[in-house]
Amino acid sequence: MPLASPAIPSTCCYCGVGCGVLVKLEKNGDVTVTGNPAYPVNRGALCSKGLNLQYTVNDRSDRLLYPHMRYSKSRPLQRVSWEEALHRTAAVFRTFIEQYGPDSVAFYASGQCLTEEYYVINKLMKGFIGSNNLDTNSRLCMSSAVVGYKMALGEDSVPVCYDDIELADCFLVTGANPAWCHPILWRRVEAHKAANPHVKIVVVDPRATDTSALADVHLQVLPGTDVVLHQALARALIENGDIDVAFIEQHAEGYEAYRQLVFARTLEEAAQLCGVAEADIRLAAATLGPPRAFCRCGLWGSTKVPWGWIRTLAC
Ligand code: SF4
Repeated sequence: MPLASPAIPSTCCYCGVGCGVLVKLEKNGDVTVTGNPAYPVNRGALCSKGLNLQYTVNDRSDRLLYPHMRYSKSRPLQRVSWEEALHRTAAVFRTFIEQYGPDSVAFYASGQCLTEEYYVINKLMKGFIGSNNLDTNSRLCMSSAVVGYKMALGEDSVPVCYDDIELADCFLVTGANPAWCHPILWRRVEAHKAANPHVKIVVVDPRATDTSALADVHLQVLPGTDVVLHQALARALIENGDIDVAFIEQHAEGYEAYRQLVFARTLEEAAQLCGVAEADIRLAAATLGPPRAFCRCGLWGSTKVPWGWIRTLAC
C-alpha cells in the first residue's frame, strides 16, 4: 500500500494557459489533481480538462501501461519489458546513425510535454545524438503566430502578462473562442468586465460563439477577409487620430508605407469585401481607439493604439 504523498506543484499540460495544479498520490494508489490556489495564472481554478487530468493516470482499463512491440509486420503487437523496448529502440537508432549519420533519425514529440521533458529530449537529440531533427505539433500550432510576432514586434515573444487582463479596458479577440478554448483566462476577462461595466470587448469571428455572446461589437466577417478588416480598422483608427504618434516615431519602422497600404481601400469597399456593415467597422474602431489600456488576443498595449498593434493587424 503506497503512502500518501505531499501535494506536488505542477502545470496542466492540456493548453497554453498553463494552469498550476497540485498533484497528490493518495493512500489507495490513486492520484488526485486540484487547482493550485497560489498559482498566479488560475488562482486555484481549473477548466473541465484540467479537472479530469487525474483520470489519465487513474484509469487503468484503457490506458497503455506497458510498452508493446511488433517484431515483424505479420506478427501482432506484444507486451515487452521496458528494458527490451528501450534496448530495441536504441539499437534501431544506432543502426541508422552508424550507417547514415545523425540526421537520418528524428524525434516527433508532443506539444503537451512540460518544459523539463522538452529539455531532456532536446538534450538527447541535440547534445548527444548531434542532430536538430526534433519537432512537435507545437510548430503547426504556433508557426503563424511566430511569423506575426517577428514581423510586428521584431522577435518571437508574447509581450504581455496575464496580470494585464485586470488592467485593460478594451479587448479585441480575433478568430478565437477563448470562452471554450482558454476558459480559465476568459473567466478572468468576464469577471473583470462584470466588475467594470465600462470595459469593452470587440470580437472578430465568422462564427457566433460563447465569446462573441459577451462582445459589445461582433464583426461577423466572411471567412478569409480578416486582413481586409484589420486594415480597415487601422485606417479608421488613423483617421480618428487614435494612434500613438510618439510611440510610432520612437519605436516603429515603415509607418508611412503601412499608412498608404491601409488607405488604398475605403471603409465602404472593405465592408463589402468582409460582408459587414461599414457602420460596424466604424463602431469597432471607435470602441478600440479611446481606451487607456488595450488588449488584443494576447497582445496587450497601452495608451492609445501603438504601432505594434496596428502592424499586428496586418499579419
Ligand atoms: S485552461 Fe484548462 S486545459 Fe488550459 S491549462 Fe488551464 S486547466 Fe488546463
